[in-house]
This record gives sequence, C-alpha cells and structure tokens, in this order.
Amino acid sequence: MSTIEDPRPRLVPPETVRAKVFILDLNGLLVRYCSQEEADASRVFGHQPVHLSTHSWYVPRVGLSAFLKAVRRDFTLIFWTSRVKRNADALLRDLEERSLIPTRFLRSEPEIEVWAQAECTRYATTREGFRGRALYLKSFARLYDYNLATRDVLLVDDSVKKNSTNSPFSAIHPSSFTPWTEEHAPHRDHACSLS
Ligand SMILES: [Mg+2]
Repeated sequence: MSTIEDPRPRLVPPETVRAKVFILDLNGLLVRYCSQEEADASRVFGHQPVHLSTHSWYVPRVGLSAFLKAVRRDFTLIFWTSRVKRNADALLRDLEERSLIPTRFLRSEPEIEVWAQAECTRYATTREGFRGRALYLKSFARLYDYNLATRDVLLVDDSVKKNSTNSPFSAIHPSSFTPWTEEHAPHRDHACSLS
C-alpha cells in the first residue's frame, strides 16, 4: 500500500541530535569589517587590522582562534552572516590562511556549515522602516531544513534585530565589536575569553 509523505519539515527528536549547535555571527562578533580609517584607528588600541580587498579591511577579535578551538570541541559550529556567501567565504579563507581560525578548519570539517544571506529571511525594503535597505533576519525557520531543533541551538550575534523572529531565549547578544574604541581594546575585551 502506498503512502503519501508529509511534506512538512519535522523537528528531529532531541535524542537524535548529534551535538548542541553554536551559530556564530561574523561581523561585529568574531571580526569587524571596517574602512581604512577605522582600521588605522584600531591600531591605536593594539589591534592588527587585515587588508582584505581594495576597500575592505577587517579586524579579528582578540582570542578568536583559541575561542573557536575550544567551542568546537563540544559544539557543532555554524557561521551565519547576513552578507552574501562569497563575502563570507573570502573572509573565512583569509582567516584560515593567517591561522586566525584553526588550520584546515573549513576544508577538513565538512559538517561546519556557512550560512549567508540566502539562508536569511528578507524582511522589508521600505524606505521608512529600514532606510531603503532590506533587513535580513536569521529566522530559526531555517533550522527545520537542517533537522535541527531550536532547543539545541544557541545563536550568538551582536544584532538583536536579526533575531527578532526567534525566541530571545535562544540567543545571546554581546555588544558589537568596535576595535577603534577603548571598550574593545585587547586588554579590556573579554568576549572571546576562555577564562
Ligand atoms: Mg553582526
């Protein structure tokens, strides 16, 4: 007897989920994209900005490599940026080449997903609401596609707004990494501290 498959996505029962999942934002959390002026200013506070492409610089957060190594031992990692995928790939490739993320971090770990703008929910393009720019939300509806249960996921993202369709209890929001300020000088910024 044939059966009709239910097309609706199903949550995987918690006991079948392999590990808890950390979903980590990129810009403002692990690194900060910036202008050359901002990059220069970050040097004043002891950071080492990286020239990524013609007009694009970034500053890696202090302790980034050690932080990722540590959380990777106990959690499945997903990087999720609201920028387009090729930007994320260029950044992660550069971080890898500079050993700022563990060596072979991406190539040898196929289970580490990189989600980008295509995985976000495009929310609005109204000039009144969002200055004419689309807002890309990181909706947990996306988790269904990956058989992930919301209860097993923690989003770490400096943007509260991008989590606005999800339960606030599934996310933590460190303040945006701004390396040209005293607050995020290496000796004061403990967001990636393991102690
Ligand atoms: Mg961010």
